[in-house]
Amino acid sequence: MREHCGLCGVAGDPEAVALVAEGLHAQQHRGQEAAGLLVSSSEGLKVHKGLGLVSQVLSTMPDGWRTSGIPAAMGHVRYGTFGSGGVINAQPLLVRMAGVQVGIAHNGTITNAAPLREDLERSGAIFTTNSDTEVVLHLMAREMEGTGGHIRHSLELALERLEGAFCLLLLTPSELIAVRDPHGFRPLNLGRIGHSGWAVASETIAFPLCCAEYVREIRAGEILSIPNGGGEPRSGTFDGRETLFGGPCRLSQCIFEHVYFARPGSLVFGDSVYEVRIRMGETLAAEAPSVCDTVIPVPDSGMFAALGYSRKMCVPFDMGFTRNHYVGRTFIDPATARRAAMVTRKLQPIPEAVKGRRICVVEDSIVRGTTSRARIRALREAGAKEVHMRVSCPPHRYGCFFGIDFPEPSSLIANTRTLEQIASLLEVDSLAYLSLEGMLSCVRAHSPCDYCTACFSGLYPVQPPSDGIPRPCGG
Ligand code: SF4
Repeated sequence: MREHCGLCGVAGDPEAVALVAEGLHAQQHRGQEAAGLLVSSSEGLKVHKGLGLVSQVLSTMPDGWRTSGIPAAMGHVRYGTFGSGGVINAQPLLVRMAGVQVGIAHNGTITNAAPLREDLERSGAIFTTNSDTEVVLHLMAREMEGTGGHIRHSLELALERLEGAFCLLLLTPSELIAVRDPHGFRPLNLGRIGHSGWAVASETIAFPLCCAEYVREIRAGEILSIPNGGGEPRSGTFDGRETLFGGPCRLSQCIFEHVYFARPGSLVFGDSVYEVRIRMGETLAAEAPSVCDTVIPVPDSGMFAALGYSRKMCVPFDMGFTRNHYVGRTFIDPATARRAAMVTRKLQPIPEAVKGRRICVVEDSIVRGTTSRARIRALREAGAKEVHMRVSCPPHRYGCFFGIDFPEPSSLIANTRTLEQIASLLEVDSLAYLSLEGMLSCVRAHSPCDYCTACFSGLYPVQPPSDGIPRPCGG
């Protein structure tokens, strides 16, 4: 299971480059394959990007970018899905259309990108990447003649043809533009820097590092533009209408951002990720208590649900695993055998914390189950008397077409198995998942109906691609 991507943009601050770099660092968890930075300099838009972590990529940034008073910049951290790796797909993408430079970065997956691309290619478009993001640029370019070269108008016409999940940041020589798709699958937030600067970021955890204060979410279907030199953001269409694009459609924010992806210090869809995860643990304890001596989390993302579970159960919380921070994230290596080795290298049980005890392990989610089983075995080898498992979301049974790279549904441990069969495969003494209703009861800022739960429920808010195959995503 891979994360998607992260966006950060700043306009109206002479330290925009440094602030965006900090904002990308804060969102490194959203993508570790590639990073990139696009700046609006006196010589036009310039891009610097490459494979690797933000610190590696930006260490070779051109001299002077940080100190030359550049007022607007935006950046991207990326995880590509299988087959879409390589520096060619690193973002932001920078092109020139009808003589105007336009840069774009994307978080999400455009579900109708494949047929749009086929149409564009048939009519002569030449693509240089295999990401869905480039489709947006080609659609905009097609509209430029009809709009008299008006970038905002062309963008609005292009957006009307897109389906699926897309938070976009675009930079032109005059403005930074933020877009969130009408379903609002992915988070995007607005922050204020001083009197005239503004920041936009996927997660609010970036704002303190961008010297920004959280203002609000970018609304689903909103197009927000901020002059590169600073000044009030303008929301709405190019001709001044304060409308949202895409027409009325169901808000479908990704609940899995709260379960797993986002950092606990972030506000996501208006709710504190920390508080939601604590509530998920408490609700799980109310729904599925266990007879145990110690509650332990699977660090890091299971930490706060485990804390909530232990508080509600009035059972001591302990750190039963120690984490080796110098081992890469387990899903970086696709070879199953090596991934299993990485799992045990990354998280090792602490025998003194588990020996002779009835342990309840709280996981944020179980995907294939291979890593969970390896951890259960390791706990038993370390001397745990019983191992119970509680999971702070419902069973994952279906794929995601909206920016999360789940394995094939047939590889998901819960795809066709009963709870008893999963417990037996994982070799646990008992197993329980948080219910769908219980999970949705933990978010407060929006109605429970305003979330996508398709990977749990199979109810897709947007029609999946006709062949049912998730596509390489841009961000
Ligand atoms: S299918 Fe799951 S992971 Fe994908 S957007 Fe919906 S809730 Fe999020």
